[in-house]
Amino acid sequence: MTDLTAFQAWLDRAAELLAEHADHLTELDRAIGDGDHGTNMARGFGASAALAAHETFPSIDAYLKKVGMTLVSTVGGASGPLYGTFFLRLAGPLAGASTIGAVELGRALAAGVEGVVARGRAEVGDKTMYDALAPAVQAYQGELEAGADVGACLAAALAAAEEGRDGTEGLVARKGRASYLGERSAGHVDPGASSAVLLLQAAAATLG
Ligand code: ADP
Ligand code: MG
Repeated sequence: MTDLTAFQAWLDRAAELLAEHADHLTELDRAIGDGDHGTNMARGFGASAALAAHETFPSIDAYLKKVGMTLVSTVGGASGPLYGTFFLRLAGPLAGASTIGAVELGRALAAGVEGVVARGRAEVGDKTMYDALAPAVQAYQGELEAGADVGACLAAALAAAEEGRDGTEGLVARKGRASYLGERSAGHVDPGASSAVLLLQAAAATLG
């Protein structure tokens, strides 16, 4: 079962991974954007991970809502509101729960990713974070239906997200700053799809 402590460990691990990979994410964003994605993400997730040290949260959903609001106010760029919405929506299906299982986590992840779409209107193939997140949710549900536990569902989600991220390299961007480059955006991996993989990597290491 996954509890509040596990969600806090997720944010801790995500903050670590994003700090470790900040230069790489910024490098990717320099190629097809404005070169701020690594610093944006490291700052925002650092601030989110620090929440638990200063405040006691009564529930998983209260914590995730605060993380979402913190991301909205600290990440900036296009990705701040998108990841912020992801965490705010993640909280919805978990309201009132103190421990959750694979089914509830799957519902929450699906709601989070729906939030990203509601906010950014991306479709699969637009070369965004959604190209990693959409297959991740699908793979999670597939494993779940096959009777897998949280760990196996998250491992499948991570593998699908990595594949989705790698697939963004050949795509022409149709959303966000990279879309201004048109055909010249092809040949580069999308920074947001790469940060989404790191979030799922952190999830697989802590929520399972
Ligand atoms: P900005 O482009 O404002 O500098 P960031 O560099 O922090 O913001 O984030 C860029 C990432 O945001 C892109 O790589 C892409 O994955 C994601 N992104 C941009 N627009 C959208 C959108 N409409 N829907 C989903 N993701 C998006
Ligand atoms: Mg940028």
